[in-house]
Amino acid sequence: MTDKPRIWLSSPHMGGKEIDFIQQAFTQNWIAPLGPNVDGFEKELGQYTGVDHVAALSSGTAAIHLALILLGIERGDEVLVQSFTFCGSSNPILYQGATPVLIDSERDTYNMDPDVLETAIKDRIQKGKKPKAVILVHLYGMPARVDDIIEICQRYEISLIEDAAEALGSSYKGRKAGSFGVFSVLSFNGNKIITTSGGGALLSQNEEMIAKARFLATQARDTAPHYEHSELGFNYRMSNICAGIGRGQLEILDKHVARRREINQWYKETVSREGISFLEEPNDDYFSNHWLSVMQVDEQKAGISREQIRLAFLDENIESRPTWKPMHLQPLYQEFPFYGAGVGQDLFENGLCLPSGSNLTEAEQERIQNVLSDIFS
Ligand SMILES: *Cc1c(COP(=O)(O)O)cnc(C)c1O
Repeated sequence: MTDKPRIWLSSPHMGGKEIDFIQQAFTQNWIAPLGPNVDGFEKELGQYTGVDHVAALSSGTAAIHLALILLGIERGDEVLVQSFTFCGSSNPILYQGATPVLIDSERDTYNMDPDVLETAIKDRIQKGKKPKAVILVHLYGMPARVDDIIEICQRYEISLIEDAAEALGSSYKGRKAGSFGVFSVLSFNGNKIITTSGGGALLSQNEEMIAKARFLATQARDTAPHYEHSELGFNYRMSNICAGIGRGQLEILDKHVARRREINQWYKETVSREGISFLEEPNDDYFSNHWLSVMQVDEQKAGISREQIRLAFLDENIESRPTWKPMHLQPLYQEFPFYGAGVGQDLFENGLCLPSGSNLTEAEQERIQNVLSDIFS
């Protein structure tokens, strides 16, 4: 071990203006889950992504939960979801008592394989139940094969929920991630590309649906002088303080995307060798924010395992992390149907996420480079 300070995978990186928005909230005493920063953040997120209506919420997971409720997903319904993802994508299906049907990934983008998706839809229909929604993820900021997935969803008339939690600032064919779903979801958790210290957003072109989302997110309070409830609501709104952080963060988002992309390029140049590959944009249609740089290690060819690399980093107090463990391999999801041939499992077993924060310093990059040179010498 070492007494050198920790290098994180991805840590909060303030731009400077956040504190001004918070100060304003204090001055005006808007210390509540509503206020001018919440309204402003929603408007600015809409402008950035090109989506008309946005509800700022307490988390990305809450946003996916509300999307499922607004689509009428109930106990017994089936929802198709990318298996190779973080549990925030899929757990809301279980909150609703519905059944997740887990779909494998393709190697190129790490995201939902359109062919597997269609096979699964056909098989579920044949078994007697048409799935009601698809949850698509842009993992590590890499856009999914969006056109193909949308075409399949339209052909089978299944609603698309776009989980863009990791992909704010990414785009596909020039259109921003977060603008492709019937509902789209963003996250501002502490380790995401921008943070509100914790938060999320639900986006849609449907004004009525976003109004309903705001209603459900504030305990579904009916119009009355007292508290009257005819529907089940949640406490899912974002606070005016957190939204202030978000407004400051949005101002430097593109700068931070550029820096993460630069770091990704640096990794590719630093580790160019047999047996090592990186998650890369397949062609010019894809623009990734490269939220995290991800390395795949072919142990036979590289002469070293993913785990050996992770431990070598740890010895130098540098955080790296295996890629997401697919949901179909998780004890919690064991009983649910999975369609695929093990691509996600392979990407999990050999994948390593590398320190990628936009605040990574040159000195930190040098420490990382030293570990990599040691390993591969
Ligand atoms: C972070 C994340 C979420 C959930 O967001 P929270 O704000 O942490 O609830 C959902 N899906 C993916 C893919 C994520 O990375």
